[in-house]
Amino acid sequence: MAENTGLKNRGKTKSDVDERRMAAEEFTGAKLETIGSYGFDPERASKNIENMIGTVQLPLGYAGPMKIAGDHAQGEFLIPLATTEGALVASVSRGMSVISQSGGAAASVFDDFMTRAPVLRVDGIKHSREVMAWIDSHIEEIDEAVAGTTSHGKLAKIECFPDGRNLFLRFSFSTGDAMGMNMATIASEAVCRLIEKETGAVMVSVSGNMCSDKKPAAINMISGRGKTVIAEATIPKDIVESKLHTTAEAVVETNYRKNLVGSSMAGILGANAHAANMVAAIYIATGQDPAQVVGGSMTLTTCEVVDGDLYICVRMPAVEVGTVGGGTSLPCQSEALEMIGCKGEGKAKKFSEIVAATVLAGELSTLAAQAAGQLGQAHKALGR
Ligand code: NAP
Repeated sequence: MAENTGLKNRGKTKSDVDERRMAAEEFTGAKLETIGSYGFDPERASKNIENMIGTVQLPLGYAGPMKIAGDHAQGEFLIPLATTEGALVASVSRGMSVISQSGGAAASVFDDFMTRAPVLRVDGIKHSREVMAWIDSHIEEIDEAVAGTTSHGKLAKIECFPDGRNLFLRFSFSTGDAMGMNMATIASEAVCRLIEKETGAVMVSVSGNMCSDKKPAAINMISGRGKTVIAEATIPKDIVESKLHTTAEAVVETNYRKNLVGSSMAGILGANAHAANMVAAIYIATGQDPAQVVGGSMTLTTCEVVDGDLYICVRMPAVEVGTVGGGTSLPCQSEALEMIGCKGEGKAKKFSEIVAATVLAGELSTLAAQAAGQLGQAHKALGR
């Protein structure tokens, strides 16, 4: 093959990509015709991938319209979902129709910061104490180091977790409308270089896993990562019965036995029916980092009967999303963000509320289908 490694091989022009794909065809013996058929200038992806040979297309559908009365997302939305799972879009749409008919979903962002947690090597307990004291008394210098790397990223707090000859520093940044992982990593590294110079501690890794990025983690479930978003809706008893063919009590019981007891029996972080399904579909459609579906999978779904009606809520402690940066400016993904009025500056909180409302709709529909004993039937009819 003509080219073989890393950063020099970004997909800069159409002909670079074609040449590389032809080399891959020769090497593998596979015809890559469809992979090579795409409709945008590969230069648009030059910061998103190396060794580009084409694209992988996924079916994109919409669910909705859904009525949302959030703090930031207000109105009726058609939600773009990219998936290969038959029945998912239909099910989410059903949930959205029921929620909209019931007055819509409320949604709110309760916390908003991106974390990075480097691990430093120290000499022991005494040295940890000295480093922590230095950090406490030099916040201004630390802020300056951050400001030298980003204009939108602001340091909100540093939490210290000492352990013998390890000292973990968990940095929390507000990151504007970016998901913020590159921003937080670059800023954390700059701060650690300053700490190394002033204290003699050694940064072993800029990511010491207490961040925790792309791994299910109790620290994120409890303290949050990205946006902590809650969405709720109340479905009148008669709508539960006429549209979902079950009762509020049966949905509550299904949620209790399946999501709460079952998840606890299995040791699942979070307790939900399939939050990751909606999170994956909307993240892929809109250029989010799909590996961060892990954070979305830690959703807690709760249901209660309130005055005879069905109250349903999703608490999402780690919605790690952005409306600038990462994959959000790729042409298809950027159009999908436009569908929900979430492209660019000032839209990240609105987008996170739409994510939570979409998860709420999917949870409602699936719980109701299971309460009514219809899940297998629906998948047989739509997914096979
Ligand atoms: P980014 O594209 O690296 O950074 C966002 C950029 O947008 C910054 O240059 C920022 O400028 C600029 N910007 C302009 N307007 C902004 C606004 N209103 N709000 C915030 N920023 C604005 O994106 P990122 O979100 O930090 O990182 C996302 C990428 O990180 C994804 O591709 C993801 O896959 C990847 N990722 C990286 C790691 C890692 O460890 N590095 C881990 C997981 C994922 P200023 O910085 O000057 O403010």
